Amino acid sequence: MASKQRMASEATIDFEEHPFTCPYCGKETVVESPMYTILVGLADCEHCGREFLIENDVPRSLPQ
Ligand SMILES: [Zn+2]
Repeated sequence: MASKQRMASEATIDFEEHPFTCPYCGKETVVESPMYTILVGLADCEHCGREFLIENDVPRSLPQ
């Protein structure tokens, strides 16, 4: 049996870039996710640095 070497990098995940409008500062920030649609997740705004929630591709501010 010939030994087959598997590359660890074979299973590379392609990250989709999702542009979202920050619910705090209103600027566009890009969130990278391997999912085509972000059902639920947290992201950091690259402009104001605040964390916001994404539900079904809709950005929402977190309850303070
Ligand atoms: Zn922001």
